[in-house]
Amino acid sequence: MCGDGDEAQGDCGSREEWTLLFWTSLAVIVPVIITLWCSAQRSKRKTHMKDFFRKSKHGWRYTDLFNKPTYCCVCSQHILQGAFCDCCSVCADEQCLQRADRSLACKEIMAPSGPDGAVQHRWVRGNVPLASYCAVCKQQCGTQPKLCDSRCVWCQTTVHDDCMESLADADRCSLGEFRSLIIPPHYLYRVNKLRRRHPDEYSKLASSCGSGWTPMLVLANTRSGNNMGEALLGEFRSLLNPVQVFDLSEISPSKALQLCTLLPPGSVRVLVCGGDGTVGWVLDAIDTMKLKGQDQFIPRVTILPLGTGNDLSNTLGWGAGYAGEIPVEQVLRNIVDAEVVKMDRWKVQVASKGLYFRKPKVLSMNNYFSVGPDALMALNFHAHREKTPSFFSSRIINKAVYFLYGTKDCLVQECKDLDKRIELELDGERVALPSLEGIIVCNIGYWGGGCRLWRGMGDEPCPPTRLDDGLLEVVGVFGSFHCAQIQVNLANPVRLGQAHTVRLVLKSSKMPMQVDGEPWAQGPCTITITHKTQALMLYHSTEQTDDDDDESSASETESPTPHDSPQPPGPASAHA
Ligand SMILES: [Zn+2]
Ligand SMILES: [Zn+2]
Ligand SMILES: [Zn+2]
Ligand SMILES: [Zn+2]
Repeated sequence: MCGDGDEAQGDCGSREEWTLLFWTSLAVIVPVIITLWCSAQRSKRKTHMKDFFRKSKHGWRYTDLFNKPTYCCVCSQHILQGAFCDCCSVCADEQCLQRADRSLACKEIMAPSGPDGAVQHRWVRGNVPLASYCAVCKQQCGTQPKLCDSRCVWCQTTVHDDCMESLADADRCSLGEFRSLIIPPHYLYRVNKLRRRHPDEYSKLASSCGSGWTPMLVLANTRSGNNMGEALLGEFRSLLNPVQVFDLSEISPSKALQLCTLLPPGSVRVLVCGGDGTVGWVLDAIDTMKLKGQDQFIPRVTILPLGTGNDLSNTLGWGAGYAGEIPVEQVLRNIVDAEVVKMDRWKVQVASKGLYFRKPKVLSMNNYFSVGPDALMALNFHAHREKTPSFFSSRIINKAVYFLYGTKDCLVQECKDLDKRIELELDGERVALPSLEGIIVCNIGYWGGGCRLWRGMGDEPCPPTRLDDGLLEVVGVFGSFHCAQIQVNLANPVRLGQAHTVRLVLKSSKMPMQVDGEPWAQGPCTITITHKTQALMLYHSTEQTDDDDDESSASETESPTPHDSPQPPGPASAHA
């Protein structure tokens, strides 16, 4: 093709090079452009969808892949991706979403009851839960590969399409197994219609909700415990009335708790899904209710622990951390059976030396206060978690890192000779301290992620403790190595005594301190711990087994003697 001569040949070569370069760049650039365009379209679609979800009356969630065979409620086609409502479980693909939103009603949070006071079933057809059985013929539902069979969004009854006609009580919904926890739509409808909003009126209305009605609010912290909160919110919305389920990333506990003031006084329960910190947050909000004169509406608090090392939850029998070991339905059953106990809450005042004119720092305490090695561990851990938060999202890594800090600190011994720098007063009496590196003041039975601090190991008798005795237990530790030994049940702390008021005077230098796992470094100061109030908590009497917490569940299998069980239900405990 090329003509004679070197020049022409060179010309031809460079043209070939250019052609090659052109096609190569085209081969690279075109896919990149296509990918970018697709992802731009996708994100545009996502924001559009988010907008749509926000305005919708359903609680839509989008998924790229359904976790079970799913059929669109509009076109009946089998779908792999699309949206589902986490209140009423309606599913739809993207094309049918608009129609589904317009034509299918969601679970009504507020509605009048039928003429004879009966609640109607609210059937949603198709996509019944796996392993659900027909209320009429007792055979499994949802086994055919199509949109078939129905579930009532209130009572969770499932029925075959063919059996629907022979269903007894077809026009009367009992609200199902958890009727004692659900706020029925007709209750809210009537409260809304009341001319005079008064607690006595609420109690009258409550008679239509059955005896033993203890409506429950769910307050979930979606930020704690590996996104478990998000899934739990959906499950509770589908089992209860969506109006009683709150996401604490969107609403503060004090606002959510205002729903209590529309319910009969003394009946409400609050389930807190989160860590001990979230529980403290909610309990503080309840104290604020007391200050506002809403004493009579104070709810009883129960816990579904997320994350790790939740000692308060563990003390109350709800386990140290929930990761879906038991179904949510079982959690609700445990709450129905739980009993009410009182729990002391404490006020920690920190008055820094030399700053007489400044107000002392005041903190609320549910679990424990400590000065010394375990506070130092928490402080180190805290500082590193702030720096690299993503590294700390796994609970196994968290435990490993926590342990590493503990051993590293063995070498440093920053808390040496604490007994020479600190004075301890129990109920106004000075306590002579042995050679110590740390002091821990406990309100509850567990400490340090599942360790029985006051009771310790062995059969040595110890003074009895209760959650509501108005007493704090004070112990000393010899150092971080001793701390670690205590945590694995190889050593006991030094029991220093019990008291109604604890005063600590730090005379010199800076020391690590913590209240309920919130650590800080503190210079010379006076710390006074006094009784603040009592909270009403729910206590679960059979311990949940937790596989990564075997030392505490092992100690649970020994039959506890009556005087050192965490808190025997005594005459002082109120009953719901
Ligand atoms: Zn469809
Ligand atoms: Zn819905
Ligand atoms: Zn029903
Ligand atoms: Zn059937």
